[in-house]
Parts: sequence; structure tokens; C-alpha cells
Amino acid sequence: MNRLSSIAKAVRQWADSDYQSESFAPDQADRFDPPRLAPYLFLHVGCLLVFLVGWSWFAVGAAAFLYFIRMFAITGFYHRYFSHRAFRTSRLMQFIFAVWGNTSMQRGALWWASTHRHHHQHSDEESDKHSPVRHGFLYSHLGWLTCRKNFPTDYTKIKDFAAFPELVFLNRFDFFVPILFGIVLWIIGALLETYVPGLGTNGGQLFVWGFFISTVFLMHGTLFINSLSHMLGNRRFDTDDDSRNNPVLAAITLGEGWHNNHHRYAHSARQGFYWWEFDVTYYLLRAMSVCGLIWDLKPVPAHVYEEAAAAKQSKSET
Ligand SMILES: [Zn+2]
Ligand SMILES: [Zn+2]
Repeated sequence: MNRLSSIAKAVRQWADSDYQSESFAPDQADRFDPPRLAPYLFLHVGCLLVFLVGWSWFAVGAAAFLYFIRMFAITGFYHRYFSHRAFRTSRLMQFIFAVWGNTSMQRGALWWASTHRHHHQHSDEESDKHSPVRHGFLYSHLGWLTCRKNFPTDYTKIKDFAAFPELVFLNRFDFFVPILFGIVLWIIGALLETYVPGLGTNGGQLFVWGFFISTVFLMHGTLFINSLSHMLGNRRFDTDDDSRNNPVLAAITLGEGWHNNHHRYAHSARQGFYWWEFDVTYYLLRAMSVCGLIWDLKPVPAHVYEEAAAAKQSKSET
């Protein structure tokens, strides 16, 4: 009976993120929570279905395309908009951004942004939820997500966006959009099989490549910013944390790898501070601002550039 009720609680918690099945004592807060691991196991094991459905150029291309547009949603919207308010937009667009980001299966925008704001307030301190310096690579990469204390959304850290009930709804029922996303992929694949058979794809194949494989790559690409961006790369600014600038991570994440820049000044819409620090997210945000979809992109202040120049000068002298 106990087992049945704990399964029922886990199911309810998966369906409703704000459902707190039990209050846990502080000493239990750090505990590994098997129901929290289940969604990540599901995504990884699901990739093995590729041996059943095979591949086609169309399915592989779709997976790459979905990686690209959803990485942009994570970096441009979940991170630069919801976490740091690096630009402004309309209520309709911010709702679209939240739905778009939610297809990445990285939970709701409010949980993501509140967690990330905590990271900036406590970077590489003991209370940082994902510091490789404090807790090692594996914990900072994936372990922290399976920990009880990191599951609830801290709405006190995201009061500004929690004022919008549609965003709270998406955050609370964060499985809804991913399920819809998977169903739509399957339907598109089935329609293509019927009407454009020359593409060599089908419902199951598009589902496996678009839902499982693309999402797992996307997840690890994003999680590398929590783990590797505080371990590998150069430090332009002498920040209080261990953040690094790393061009490889910037390529994988459309510009997020300039993480030391970002920790020095988190509010700007760009993270590559110079033209040679490619930042695809910023270019796309600029394009959206030209179209009038977003506005008031925050720049990097002059005093931060002066600091960067002084740091370069002192490095060349030593
Ligand atoms: Zn960081
Ligand atoms: Zn940030």
C-alpha cells in the first residue's frame, strides 16, 4: 500500500510540478529522489528506439533543426529574457517564448529562471545548486536535477513573471507542452510518409529523432554551461566565481560559452562582447528586434569594456 501511494504521489508530482507530496526535513532535502531521475532516464533510453525506426536524412536534419531552434529558445528566452530581462517584449510574445522553451523539456520558464537567478546570486558558493568547483562535474551536470531540494519552483525569486497566470500555468503543468510536441512530431512524420514518401521518414522515426535524440543533445549542451563553463576556458574578468569563456561551448550553445563575460555583466542581451566572440543568440535577437517583436536590448556598458581593456593591458605587461 505504501509503495502504491508513493507511486501515486510521484505520478501526481510529474503531472503537477507545484504539488508538494510531502514536506521534507532539511536533512532529506539533499537526498537523491528516484522519481526525479525517471524523466532523464526515459529520454536517454528512448534514444535506443533508433535501432527500431532507423534513420533518414530528413529525420536527422529535423533533429538538428529542432536542436538549433530550441537551443535558441533556451538561451534567448529562458536565459536572457526570463532570467535576466535583457530585453523587453509583449505579453503575447513572452507567452510564445515560454511555450517554445518548454518544448526543450527543461521544465517551465519560471522554474528555470528562478533556479538560474539563484546561481548568479551564489555562483560557486556552497549553496550554488550546480557548482563543479564545490560538488564535482557529475553533480553539477546532472546530479543536482535528481535532488529533492532543487525540484520546487522558488516563486519568490521570480515574482516579476509569476504575476502572469499563463506563465504559472505552463510552469506548473510543465509536461503538457512536451507531450503535445511529441504528438505533433509523430503526426507530421505520419503525414510525410503518406504524402511525401520520397523523404523516407515516418511517424515513429521523426518522433525518435525529434523528441528523444534532439532533446538529449540539447539537454547536455545546455547542462555543459552549468558544469564545463565553470571548469574549462579563459577568464577575462576576475569575477567572484570560476566562470570561463570557451569558444567550443559558445558554438554548441549559440553563444552561451562566453560565460565569464556573462558573469561579469549578466544583464546585457549579448554575451560575446566583441565581434569575434560569435553569439548566434544575439544575432537572432537583433533580427527579432528589427522586426519589432522585441525591443530595448540592453547593451554592455562602457565601463565593462574599459575593465576588459585594462585586464588585457595588465596581462600583456606580466
Ligand atoms: Zn555560471
Ligand atoms: Zn545567466
